[in-house]
Amino acid sequence: MMGVYFHIPFCRHACHYCDFHFSTKLDAQEDLVVAMLKEMSLRKEEIVQHEINTIYFGGGTPSLLTESQLGRMLESLGEGMSSAKEITLEANPEDLTPEYLRMLQRLGINRLSIGVQSFYNEHLEYMNRKHTGAQAEAAIKRAQDSGITNITADLIFGIPIATFSQWQSNVEQLLQLEIPHFSAYALTIEEKTVFGARQKKGILEPQKDEEVEKSFLYLHETAKLLGYEHYELSNYAKPSFRSVHNGNYWKGIPYVGFGPSAHSFSEGKRRWNISNNPQYIRSIELKKDFFEVEELTEVDRLNERIMVGLRTCGGIDWKDFPDDWRKDNERNFFKFVEGGNAEMDESGFRLTPKGWLISNHIISSLFI
Ligand code: SF4
Repeated sequence: MMGVYFHIPFCRHACHYCDFHFSTKLDAQEDLVVAMLKEMSLRKEEIVQHEINTIYFGGGTPSLLTESQLGRMLESLGEGMSSAKEITLEANPEDLTPEYLRMLQRLGINRLSIGVQSFYNEHLEYMNRKHTGAQAEAAIKRAQDSGITNITADLIFGIPIATFSQWQSNVEQLLQLEIPHFSAYALTIEEKTVFGARQKKGILEPQKDEEVEKSFLYLHETAKLLGYEHYELSNYAKPSFRSVHNGNYWKGIPYVGFGPSAHSFSEGKRRWNISNNPQYIRSIELKKDFFEVEELTEVDRLNERIMVGLRTCGGIDWKDFPDDWRKDNERNFFKFVEGGNAEMDESGFRLTPKGWLISNHIISSLFI
């Protein structure tokens, strides 16, 4: 089994918080798609050995792609396309017109990830998003009316200008739309972003930790009451609607990523493409130097299991780890359980929502 990821590195504008790899030079889009098709052909062998179970168009803004561009990428997967049960496309609300939605369905795309972030226009403007809250709500309803019911949406909490009551109302408004899955991320201020520069100049003050924690715990409780499983640090799903694609990452199932900055994982090796569009196109043309590879050691693999496991509700399974490591960390395990940050039993160790708030600290203290 294998997941396929396409990284579409274009956006119409730069959101003030985003440090993903993307370019706003949209005129290079077709050249980039052609280069990605070449990359697929160069790496054909990696795909044919596996049954593809999920395909994911992420970015950047995949909803900038035309029918021809999306269609050519899907077609290039050949037979693999027919075994994929979940085909997701990340979309910005302003792109989801009735025609675009019909086109996605013609191509077999059956899951949408819609970037809502907030329903408050003042928050959206502050973050340099180019849609309104009303547009985001209308886009979700249009997608549902079009027949694409497997929808996930993203929200951001911890926006410096947002109040707690605005966060409550954002959560309420999203959950009223009855989508089966959503993700919620705490805003992090990254150095090489507009927000990072503002923070450095002292004109942006991040939300206080207590406020961010209150928002996270409110969401956890509200989602649970409405029947969502909080199955990963940032992800919530109605039963049977967990993201299969992300599940591949968390379960260590191989995945192959195409496009600039895309990552791949297979046979104990991690591989990543260069994060520069013109350089990627040139290197693909020359069939060399467009990626780097790292072979994971046993310790890397165990640390990865700690990191991934403790971000999911299943936690870590004792049987995947050496007894020595368990014994060495016994005091740590008890400390986190006594502090209400974790639960432990015969089968393993997992974090509580309170523990997720300090997951980076817990994970790094347990690393081998
Ligand atoms: S649309 Fe998404 S990928 Fe593009 S800049 Fe905004 S947050 Fe980043």
